[in-house]
Amino acid sequence: MTYATILIRGIVQGVGFRPFIYRIATKHHLNGYVQNRGDAGVKVVLEGKKLQITKFLKSLEIEKPPQANIHETIVDFDEEKKKSFVEFRIIESDNKGKSFGSIIPPDISICDECLEELRDPSDRRYDYFFITCTNCGPRYTIINDTPYDRENTAMRSFSMCTNCMEEYVDPKDRRFHAQTIACSDCGPKVWISDRNGEKIESIDPIREVGKLLEEGFIVAIKGNGGFHIAASTLKDEPIVKLRKSKHRSQKPFAIMARSVEAIRTFAELNAYEESLLTSPIRPIILLRKNLNYCLSNLISPNLHNIGIMLPYTGQHDLLFEKTSDPAFIMTSANPPEEPIITKNDVAIKKLSSDVDYFLVHDRTISQRCDDSVVRFVGESIAIIRRSRGFAPAPIHIQNEAKRGILGVGGELNVACCILKNRKAFISQHIGDIETIETLKFLSDVIKHLIRLTKSDLEIIAHDLHPRFNTTKLAKDLAEELDCELFPVQHHFAHLTKIMGEHNLHEAIGIVCDGYGYGLDGKAWGGEILFCSGSEFKRIGHLEEQPMIGGDLATKFPLRMLAGFLLENKKFEKWLLNKSRFLPYGEEEVNLILQQSKLKNTMTTSCGRLLDAISALLGICYERTYEGEPAMKLESVALSGKSVLNLKPEIEKDVIKTSSFVEEIFHNLRKYPIQNLAYSAQSYVADSLSEFAILEAERLGVRNICFTGGVAYNEHIALRIKKIVEKNGFDFFLQKKLPPGDGGISFGQTIFTDLMKEK
Ligand code: ZN
Ligand code: ZN
Ligand code: FE
Repeated sequence: MTYATILIRGIVQGVGFRPFIYRIATKHHLNGYVQNRGDAGVKVVLEGKKLQITKFLKSLEIEKPPQANIHETIVDFDEEKKKSFVEFRIIESDNKGKSFGSIIPPDISICDECLEELRDPSDRRYDYFFITCTNCGPRYTIINDTPYDRENTAMRSFSMCTNCMEEYVDPKDRRFHAQTIACSDCGPKVWISDRNGEKIESIDPIREVGKLLEEGFIVAIKGNGGFHIAASTLKDEPIVKLRKSKHRSQKPFAIMARSVEAIRTFAELNAYEESLLTSPIRPIILLRKNLNYCLSNLISPNLHNIGIMLPYTGQHDLLFEKTSDPAFIMTSANPPEEPIITKNDVAIKKLSSDVDYFLVHDRTISQRCDDSVVRFVGESIAIIRRSRGFAPAPIHIQNEAKRGILGVGGELNVACCILKNRKAFISQHIGDIETIETLKFLSDVIKHLIRLTKSDLEIIAHDLHPRFNTTKLAKDLAEELDCELFPVQHHFAHLTKIMGEHNLHEAIGIVCDGYGYGLDGKAWGGEILFCSGSEFKRIGHLEEQPMIGGDLATKFPLRMLAGFLLENKKFEKWLLNKSRFLPYGEEEVNLILQQSKLKNTMTTSCGRLLDAISALLGICYERTYEGEPAMKLESVALSGKSVLNLKPEIEKDVIKTSSFVEEIFHNLRKYPIQNLAYSAQSYVADSLSEFAILEAERLGVRNICFTGGVAYNEHIALRIKKIVEKNGFDFFLQKKLPPGDGGISFGQTIFTDLMKEK
C-alpha cells in the first residue's frame, strides 16, 4: 500500500472541489479523506496502489471542476503503513494552515443545469429564485470566514430540509456538499413590498415585478451583492424620474438584457464580447449601439455605447419570463457618494422616495459587491470596474514578494490590495472615498481581506497625496496593525500596476489620466515614466497648463480651455459667446479671463486636455460624472476622419499642447466637429507615442506600456499601439487590472516591494 498526502492551493473551495475529489478517489479505488482547510486550501490523504494514486493525480489535473483554479499541488508519498482507511470520506474542515495562500472564489453566475431545472415544472426547484449547485451561485458575497462551509456563510440561518440534506450527503448528486443548497421549502424567501416596506401578498413576486417594470414602475431589487434599481428601458418617464432622484443628469445607466439575441437588436456584439458576456463572470460590457438602437436615449445620453449585462441568477431569469421587454435598467442602488445598499431596512429608509416597490429576500449579504464593468479596446479587454465575478481571485506575479503589503488605493474608484508571496488579492470595487460611508466600507473590506488571506502585514502603501482619506486611513491602520507606512506617487503606481501585470523588469510607461499628486506637489496626469528594476524616473510630460479656478476647471472644461488659449486674441470674444454654459455667465467669463494670468494651479493632465477639447468643440460644457467630456469626445470622433495634419511638437521633456489646441480653435468653422475630434485624439496619441519611442531608443528599452484612465479611449490606445509596434517595440495594455485607478492599490504594493528590495 502507498499513502499520499496532497495539499492543493488555489481556488479550490466553493467550486465543488471536495465532491470532485470524492468522485475521482472512489473511481480509482482509493481510500482516505478530503478536507477543507481554514486557509481556503484542500488536503487529501490517499491510501491505495501507487498506480491508482498516479491516475488520481492525472484526473485531478484534467477533470477538475470548471470554476476551480489550481495554483499549486504538493504531493508527499509515503510507503509506510500509518493507518488503514476503510473508505473514502469528506471529513470535517480544520482551521489550520496559516500562510497557505488559497482563496475563496468570486461569485459564479447561474449554470445551464440549474437554469434548466429552474424552468422545468417537474423539478423540485422549479421557479426557485435562489437555485444553485456546486458549480454556481454566490460565493464571495456570502462568505464571512474560511473554510468555505455553510456555517461560515450567510446560509447558516437556513437549515436544510430533508430533501436538500439527502442531496447534500449523496456523492452522486450534483449538489453533494454544495454549501448554498436550498429550495423553496428551506431556503431564502422573496417578496414584494410597497415603498414603505409593507409586504404585498403575491404568489409569484418575481414575475410580477417583471410586469411592474414593463408597465413603467421603478423597483429596488435585492440581489446577491447589493440592491439594484430596475426600470423599463423603453419608456422615458421612469428614467427621467430616476435621474432626478439619483442626482444624475447624464451618467449612463447599466442595463440587463434578457438574452444575447435581444442585445443584437440594439447593440453590436463581437465574438470576444459575447464570450465574456456569457461567461460565469457575467460583467457589464460597454457595447456599441447599433443602427437599430430602439431603447430610450436617456439611458446613455450622447454616448456611442451602452453598458449591458446578462441575467446571472435565477431571480434575474424569472424577472424577464413574463415580459417582452428586451432589457431592464439595472443600476446599483446607492445614495450619492455612498456604497451600494445591502440591507432591507436601509433600502427602505434611503430609497422609498425614489422607487415604487421593493423586491427583497431574507438572506443577509455578507460582502457587498457591485457588478463588474469592462469594455474592449480592439480585441483587448479593458476592465473599468473589477468586482463581482473577479474579486477576490488573485493576480499572479513572477517575483515573490518578500513581505506582506497592503495597498489602500488612491481616492477615486478605490479597491484595496494585499500582496503576499506570488499573489496579489484585489478587493471588490469600493468606490470614491469621499464620505464616511465609503471609508468605513474600505476599512471593513481591508479587515475581511486580511482575515480571508490570513496575512501578516508588514507595510501599508498609500498615495503620496497628504490629504487623501485613504492616506489617513493608512496611518490609522499602520498604528493599529503595527506596520510601516510607505507613500507611492500615483503615476508610478500606475506604471508598476501594468509592469507587475506583465511581469516586466524594465519599461517606459505612458501614463495618462485625470489627476495624481506629483512628486513636486503639482497636478500630474500626462506622464512619460521610466522604470528599470527599482529605478524610477519621470522622463517627460504634457505641457503644464493652468487650471483656472482649481477643481472648478474639472467641472467646467471651458475654464480648462481658457488656460490653453489665454494668449489668443480671438478667444475672449468666443468665450463670451459661450458664457451661457457657465453657471454665472458673463461675469464668470470676465473672472476667468482675469484669473488666467495668475497661473496658480498647473496641471499636465491628459484627461483635462481632452476635456478642454470637448468643450472647444461644443460637445460637453459640464462634467456631471467622471470622464464625461472625454467619453463624449470619443463618441463624436468615432464617425470622424483625419483633417488637420498636426505634427507632434516636443521641447526637451515637454510635449507641447497649446499650439495644437490653438490650431483646432482656428479651424473650428472649417471642418465638421467629428473630424476635429478625430484629429485632436490622433495628436494626443501621436505625440505621446513619438516621445516614448524617442526615449525608448535613447535608453535602449524594449517595452512601452500605456495605462491610466485615458487608456480606455479606444482611438488613442489603438493608435499608440500601432505606432509603437510599427517602430519595433513591444507594447502593453492592461488586461487583468483596470487601466484606471481601480488597480492603483496593486501598483502601490508592487512599487513598495521593489523599493524595499533596494
Ligand atoms: Zn448550478
Ligand atoms: Zn430544501
Ligand atoms: Fe490615475
